[in-house]
Amino acid sequence: MITGFKLRAAGFVLVALLPLLAGTQASKQPPLNPPDKSASILGFTPSGAAMERRIEEEFLQIPSPERAREWHRYLTAEPHPAASARNNELADYIADQWRQQGWEDVVLRKYEVLHSAPREISLEMVAPVQYKATLREEPYEADPDTKNPRVSQAYLGYSTSGEVTAEVVYAHSGNPEDYDLLRRKGISVKGKIVLVRYSNPYSYRGFKALTAEREGAAAMLVYSDPAEDGYTRGKVFPDGPWGPESHIQRGAITYDFIVPGDPTTPGWASVAGAKHIPAAEARSLPKIMALSLSWHDAKPLLENMNGLKAPKNWKGALPVQYRLTGSVKVHLKIDMDTSIQPYTVVEARIRGSEFPDDWVLLGNHRDAWAFGGVDPSSGTASMLELSRALGELAKNGMRPRRTLVICSWDGEEYALTGSTEWGEQFGDELRKKLVAYINVDSSASGPANRTGNAVPDFHADAVASLAPMIVEASHSLKVPTGEALYDVWRKTRAQEEKTKAPLVETRLVNTRIGSGSDHTVFLNHLGRPTVGLEFDGQYGVYHSMYDDHFWMERFGDPGFKYHIVISDLWGLLALRLANADVLPFDFAAYAANIRDFVKDLDHKSKVQPNVDLRPLLSKISELEKAGQELNATITGSLAANKLGPEAAETLSRQLMQVESNWLIPEGIPGRPWFQHLLYAARYTYAHLELPGLTEAAEKGDWKTAQAQVGLLEVAIEKNTELLRHAKADIDTSIASSAPPRQP
Ligand SMILES: [Zn+2]
Repeated sequence: MITGFKLRAAGFVLVALLPLLAGTQASKQPPLNPPDKSASILGFTPSGAAMERRIEEEFLQIPSPERAREWHRYLTAEPHPAASARNNELADYIADQWRQQGWEDVVLRKYEVLHSAPREISLEMVAPVQYKATLREEPYEADPDTKNPRVSQAYLGYSTSGEVTAEVVYAHSGNPEDYDLLRRKGISVKGKIVLVRYSNPYSYRGFKALTAEREGAAAMLVYSDPAEDGYTRGKVFPDGPWGPESHIQRGAITYDFIVPGDPTTPGWASVAGAKHIPAAEARSLPKIMALSLSWHDAKPLLENMNGLKAPKNWKGALPVQYRLTGSVKVHLKIDMDTSIQPYTVVEARIRGSEFPDDWVLLGNHRDAWAFGGVDPSSGTASMLELSRALGELAKNGMRPRRTLVICSWDGEEYALTGSTEWGEQFGDELRKKLVAYINVDSSASGPANRTGNAVPDFHADAVASLAPMIVEASHSLKVPTGEALYDVWRKTRAQEEKTKAPLVETRLVNTRIGSGSDHTVFLNHLGRPTVGLEFDGQYGVYHSMYDDHFWMERFGDPGFKYHIVISDLWGLLALRLANADVLPFDFAAYAANIRDFVKDLDHKSKVQPNVDLRPLLSKISELEKAGQELNATITGSLAANKLGPEAAETLSRQLMQVESNWLIPEGIPGRPWFQHLLYAARYTYAHLELPGLTEAAEKGDWKTAQAQVGLLEVAIEKNTELLRHAKADIDTSIASSAPPRQP
C-alpha cells in the first residue's frame, strides 16, 4: 500500500541521472542552497518524502544568480508598460523561453481591455508666479538607461481627461481625516486642486483619488515627499537606493478595491466579443483628474503658498513652510487615450503524471511602469529561473504528480487586469482544479531592510492552512549571508510585531492578506488558497524610471542571490504541493487564525455587547478540533503508509473544498465581486479580515453584523462537517484495506 514512490519512480531513473546532472553543473558555483536531507515532509509518506528530497536536491542545483542577472538585464532593457509594443514582445519572448525550457501547452491568452495612456499632459503654475512642471525624470551619466527617450512622462492610469485652472490646497496624505481637519479650519476643496503626498503609513493612491473625488475637488496632484522615500531616508539615486529629486511614482488610480480587472467587464472576462459596459457606468473608474509629481515639481507650488500654516504632523522634509492654502493657482491639462488595447497573459504547464486535473499555479506580472527593475522584473527573473529548473526536472523524467501551471500576467499595474480576466475566464475550472496559487510580484527590493539590518525583510503572505508547509520549507533554505531563511524571517516578524520574545512559528506567515497584486482574483473571487513571497528592503524608486537594472545591480540585489532564494522557495512549495501524497493543508491552524481575527475585531470594534459572538467562537473551536483530529489521522496514516493512492486523492480533493466553502455567491455587502467571507481588502488596499462583519461593526450596523456572523457560522459548520467526513473516510479506508505487506 505504498503511495507515490513507486508510481513516481517509474518515470525517473535517479541513479543514471545523477552523473549527468553533475556533469552539467561542473562549471558552476555550488548551489546557493544545498539540499537538506532531514526526513519528514508535511503531506508525504516516508518513502514519498525521501523521493521528494531527491527531486528537490536536483531542483536546487539549477537556479543560478548569474542567469537571474541575465534575465533581469533583458527584461529591463526597455520600458514595458501594459499595452506597449515592448511588453507584447516580452510576452512572445517568455512564451519562447518556456517552450525551450520544456513547458507544455504554451499559449497566449488575449484580452481586449479598456486601457489608459497619456496623450498630452501639462501642469503650469499661473499665479503668483509662472512655473511649468517638467513632469520628467533627470538622466544620470552613471546609468545610460535613464537617457532612454521611451520612458513616459508623469501620469496616473485611469485619470479622467480634462482641463482646469484652479487654486491649490495642500491636503497632506489625502485621507478622509485630512479633509476633516481642513473643514475644521474652514477650508473647502470644492472645485480646487488638492496637492497630496504619497504617505507613510501607506494608503493606495486610488483611495486618495476617490477621497478627493468625494470631497468635490477638481483634480488631485500627488507627489513624493523626500520624508517618505527620498533624502531623509538615505543616499539617493544614483548614489543610493532612495528616490532623487525628480523621481516620479507613476501608478493607476483605479477603484479596483470595488472590482478589479477591466473596468468595463466587471465580473466577466474581456475575451474577444465580450460585452463591455459604458465607461460612465464602470464603478472602478475614477471621475477625477489626477497626476503624480516629483518633489522637484511640487516644491515650487508648496513654497509659493502664503495662507494658513500646515499643522506640524503635515510637514514633509522639504525646506519650505508647508501651508494649507494661499494664492497658488495652476492650470492642469490631461488628455488620456482610453482606447481598447490587447493585454496578453502567457500560460504554460507541465502536465501532472498522476493528477493532471489538479493544478498548482505559479505567476508573476510582466508589465512595468518603466523598466521595472524591482516591480516586477525581479519577480520575472526569479520566475524564469524557477521555470528553467522545473522544466529541466520534467525533461529529466521528474514530472510532477499534479499539473504545474505558470502564468505571466499583464496589466497588473492598471487593475490587476490580466490575472483577473484570466481568473474570470477559467473560473469554473479553477474552482475545481486549483490546489493553490503562488504569486511573486517583486522578488528582491533592497540590500538591507528598512531599518538598516544587513538582510532584507522576508515576507510570506498566505492563508493559514498553508502556513505550516511554508515554515517547514523555509528551514531547508539559506540566505546569502549564510543564515537560515527561517531565522531571518523570525527576525523580520519579531521586528514587525515589536516583540523581543521568540515568535511562535504560526506567527511567521502573514495571514492578513490585502490586495494589490495578482493573488486577488484567486483568493477573493474564486476561493482558492494563495501564497505570496518577497524580499523587501530600502526601496525609494518604486514605479519611477530609476527602478531599473542599474538600481538592482548597485543596491537592490547586487549578486542576484536573493532572486534565487525566492526561486528556490517558490520551487519547493510548488513541488511539494504538486507531489504530496496528501495535500499539506492544516485546518486546525486555519481555525485558530479565524479565532484570532474574531477576537481582534471584537477587541477593536466592541462587537460582543451588540452581537453574541459565543456561538461563532464555539463553532470555530469545533472546526479546530476537527482539524486537529484530521491532522493526527493523516500524519499517522502517512507515517505508517496506510493510505492507498485513491483514498489519498479523494482526501486531497476534500481538503481542496474547504477554501471554496468560505465563498458566498452574493459577495460581501456593497462589493459583490469579493466573495470570500474571511478576506477582502480595504479601499486603501490594506488587509481586511472578516470583511462583511468588520465593515458592518465599524459602522455600528449591528443588523448586518448579525447576518454576517450567521454566514460565518454556516460556513464554519460546513467545513467542520467536511473535515469530520474526511477523517471518517480515512478510517474506513484503512479498516477495509489489507495490512501493509512486509518487505
Ligand atoms: Zn508589481
